[in-house]
Amino acid sequence: MATRIDRVVSSGVLVIDSTDSTDSTDHDNGAISRQVENNTWIVGDDEEVIVIDPAHDAAAVLDAVGDREVLAVICTHGHADHVTAALDVAQRDEAPIALHPDDQMTWREVHPEDDPEIDMADGGVFEVADVRLEVLHTPGHSRGAVCIYWRPGLCLSSRKADGRYHRRRLRHHNPATGRARGARTARG
Ligand SMILES: [Zn+2]
Repeated sequence: MATRIDRVVSSGVLVIDSTDSTDSTDHDNGAISRQVENNTWIVGDDEEVIVIDPAHDAAAVLDAVGDREVLAVICTHGHADHVTAALDVAQRDEAPIALHPDDQMTWREVHPEDDPEIDMADGGVFEVADVRLEVLHTPGHSRGAVCIYWRPGLCLSSRKADGRYHRRRLRHHNPATGRARGARTARG
């Protein structure tokens, strides 16, 4: 079954601090609001997916996911236009949310009550369908910004004769600590 990527575009309002911007302010506290459009990427096959950057519209993302199981939600950084719908998307299948810990402060500006379950680290790996998604820590846009590198050709799941997946665990391996954290059990 071929792994594919679906894209969902959603729009919303991003409020940002204007202290290092030449834009005019439109809030009393000096912040500025901008209408923004964001991409959400859904990587997987007909059975399971990982959702990357659920931006503004959880319903639109879950519509695109359909009846496939959400194994994890990855936020490439903590700004509101990449994490706003994360909790609602993750909640449906009780999927864990992954974020680099250096962006926890910005995450908490949007979600003060709920922390991500997975601390991503450079070199970490997620497995979904028949691909590995590797975490590259790329600070710059924000301290905890990451890129997700698709490494094709490595099949880590296997199929029984009846066509159902073997039970296996989605794992994010953290090379800094040497720990592999089990995220959830895929359907067996
Ligand atoms: Zn950003």
